[in-house]
Amino acid sequence: MRGRLFNFNPGPSALPQKVLEKVQAELMNYRENGLSVMEMSHRSPSFDDIIDTAIARLRRMLKLPDHYSVLFLQGGASMQFAMVPMNLCLQKKPAYINTGTWSTKAINEANIQGLNPIVVASSEDKDFTYIPADVEVPDAIDFLHVTSNNTIKGTQWHAWPVCNAPLVVDMSSDILSRPMDILPCGMVYAGAQKNLGPSGVTLVIIREDMLDRVPEDLPTMFRYTTYAQKNSLYNTPPTFAIYVVGLVLQWLEEDMGGLEEIERYNQKKAKVLYDFIDQADGFYRATAKKDSRSLMNVTFRLKDQDLEDQFVKEGLENGLGGLKGHKSVGGCRASIYNAVPQEAVTALVDFMADFMKRYG
Ligand code: PMP
Repeated sequence: MRGRLFNFNPGPSALPQKVLEKVQAELMNYRENGLSVMEMSHRSPSFDDIIDTAIARLRRMLKLPDHYSVLFLQGGASMQFAMVPMNLCLQKKPAYINTGTWSTKAINEANIQGLNPIVVASSEDKDFTYIPADVEVPDAIDFLHVTSNNTIKGTQWHAWPVCNAPLVVDMSSDILSRPMDILPCGMVYAGAQKNLGPSGVTLVIIREDMLDRVPEDLPTMFRYTTYAQKNSLYNTPPTFAIYVVGLVLQWLEEDMGGLEEIERYNQKKAKVLYDFIDQADGFYRATAKKDSRSLMNVTFRLKDQDLEDQFVKEGLENGLGGLKGHKSVGGCRASIYNAVPQEAVTALVDFMADFMKRYG
């Protein structure tokens, strides 16, 4: 069997090796409980400890004030596209900034609910290759929805847009990749399968006054209040996924040194890759505008699709997985989330240099 790949998958994506080893060591008999976390009641003291410890770590790292609740839901970030407008639209005036596929899907869900979302800015005119600047946001809106990192197009907000209404931020692909100012946010959500853990669980961070907006006539499982009132244990949560999220948070806090440190690490990784691409004489071309580039998803093109296919194929043969761009846009993409080590980026750049020598 071949060894483990350097994993550049966009999500589900690389998990820290140390976390995988811990999962393996604890799989059969979790800390003397005589059973696996997968087999354990979600109403047991051991699981209470797992979920409470995970929430406490997240609160510490994000410096969350008490009036924010941390919830674990299912249905992926895509479910949040629908739940956000269902729960938070007191005035029926949601506003969005459209920076790509995922924002567009979020807007569509508000449309389905007949809410006529206001799109205050969009980068669609240039194929979503940039983050709009100087956005003017009207005051009389319920919230402004922003996708903090655009996984497919490789762009990222580096400072929040200025806005009086609460921000609602889809942080699926950059949560905990840097210190994040949560205070302008009424709500944050993220599918776990990039920086947090395995798929199957979605993190929601929500402010008290947003919970006050939740209509009581929504079905139980669609109300944020249901999760907030029961510490995400109204029904059976995805217990194993939450356990792994807890281990990833522990790794981030204790092994990587928290968010300031991981930001430095992520900046260093991204710089190596972008610097290489920028000096590659056009053999590789970064697709996102320089000031909008993502530190998580580095998107680039080669001369034509045949060469891109060859690049992805040879990359895999050289132990570098997941370099194909999203099927809707083509090209290549290296996702370098928190758990992708510096050595993976070094190996990628070495391979890119060698590939260019042979095909350039
Ligand atoms: N938002 C962003 C920014 C994403 O990258 C993704 C998935 N890649 C989604 C939403 C959808 O997430 P899910 O598959 O968890 O529904």
